[in-house]
Amino acid sequence: MSLDLDALRALPKVTLHDHLDGGLRPATVIELAAEAGHELPTTDPDALGDWFFEAADSGSLVRYLETFDHTIACMQSADHLRRVAREFVEDQAADGVVYAEARWAPTQHLAGGLSVTQAVEAVRDGLAEGMASCAARGHRIVVQQLVTSMRHGSPRPDVARLAVDYRGDSVAGFDIAGAEDGFPPSLHAESFAYLRRNNVPFTIHAGEAFGVASIWEAVQLCGASRIGHGVRLVEDIARTPDGHQLGDLAAFIRDRRIPLELCPSSNVQTGICDAVSDHPFGLLAELRFRVTVNCDNRLMSRTTLSRELQLLSEAFGYGLEDVRWFTLNAAKSAFYPYDRRRSLIEDVIKPGFARQGA
Ligand SMILES: [Zn+2]
Repeated sequence: MSLDLDALRALPKVTLHDHLDGGLRPATVIELAAEAGHELPTTDPDALGDWFFEAADSGSLVRYLETFDHTIACMQSADHLRRVAREFVEDQAADGVVYAEARWAPTQHLAGGLSVTQAVEAVRDGLAEGMASCAARGHRIVVQQLVTSMRHGSPRPDVARLAVDYRGDSVAGFDIAGAEDGFPPSLHAESFAYLRRNNVPFTIHAGEAFGVASIWEAVQLCGASRIGHGVRLVEDIARTPDGHQLGDLAAFIRDRRIPLELCPSSNVQTGICDAVSDHPFGLLAELRFRVTVNCDNRLMSRTTLSRELQLLSEAFGYGLEDVRWFTLNAAKSAFYPYDRRRSLIEDVIKPGFARQGA
């Protein structure tokens, strides 16, 4: 029997891989698009929610990414960015999330005349408003930004500089995202070198649309602390008559406890597998990789972290103890100072799970 959605919502959860521009409420998209003069496929909130899900469900990462043209068009002013960031926090809190990292690409939000620093500050202020309004209602949540550089187009070392300049001021780290095939992580080597020199952690989308070579570059050439998706690491794991044989890269990633930011529904939509029950999550968890559960894009996948956990529970029979392990994995992997991470784990997550019987 799978875990109950309400029970999962009550657990203190952590999400590391959630795009700010992939988590808008359909009603907010409609309102902001009207203000921005941007035309949408429909202006009925339910129909628009369905449209995003279906367009993202085509099985192609490229088609999936096209849905962002609409959300990004609604996030071109400081007011709009602030509102989307505030609602990001409120929606995560409503799902029981206690710590989240919101990733987004500041350079995609300059069409209305904002500078990259104004954009980062608008998101910072929106996250702060959301945290304050949640705290006032008794739900403590911490949300930080990851600034993202898009991998197609020319590399933007200025985005990496933002991660250094706003370190500890809402920005927790850096990421690269977007079309993976043909755009290897090493194209951004200058950004990664700059971040390493300045002791700023980063994650890299790798092993989603492209395979093991992309993950290898992200970890070994670029120095990523976490892997965004990394799901195709299973291609470096062979089934043998008496178990599984890990290739050198898979063994390195497991031995070094490099976190995998796995996003089951998103991967089903982009065609990595046919159903969550076929998702490599089951094998990677069984082999004790540092697996974490994430939504990627709540709007496009019509999901929440609780829903992703429920789907995994249905697919693989996970119980509360397993969800507790995934959550601790995510908390340990957060780009958040060690003392605060410890306090999150000892004072919030462990007692919260204990109250629910885990
Ligand atoms: Zn992603």
